[in-house]
Amino acid sequence: MDMRIGQGYDVHRLTEGRKLILGGVEIPFEKGLLGHSDADVLTHAVMDALLGALALGDIGQHFPDNDPAFEGANSLKLLKAVASLIHSKGWKVQNVDATVAAQRPKLAPFISEMRVNLADAMQIPVDRVSVKATTEEGLGITGNGDGMTATAICLLVDDGEE
Ligand code: MG
Repeated sequence: MDMRIGQGYDVHRLTEGRKLILGGVEIPFEKGLLGHSDADVLTHAVMDALLGALALGDIGQHFPDNDPAFEGANSLKLLKAVASLIHSKGWKVQNVDATVAAQRPKLAPFISEMRVNLADAMQIPVDRVSVKATTEEGLGITGNGDGMTATAICLLVDDGEE
């Protein structure tokens, strides 16, 4: 069995007048993440992990941020497209483990819904998708409330159908 590991990292600025969307969940907060798409930093990190595992570049190449087609895009739909690409190349997602860093708001109440959304988009069981949240103790760009960051790691296995 062949295996591949991938990692993804993303950062988005927090700003007023935007919805806060993480893992496809709209979270009540006075600010949201700024970006061309829905700026779902968690889903973006997961997509980059999947693409990275197969050395397929990054989401900026697949979904350019100057392309009007992706303005306000639902990142879960983009993740679905990335997962289809992975499947079409003969690989399946074994598991994903991701961490969001945010000073506020408290993300714990929304984690299970994020896991379900991400698992659905990748068409894998929810127990193969881990989402964790942390603060960075008031330090740096997440600590001062300027933005949020996310990291993700994934394992792909070949689907044995080749
Ligand atoms: Mg992004």
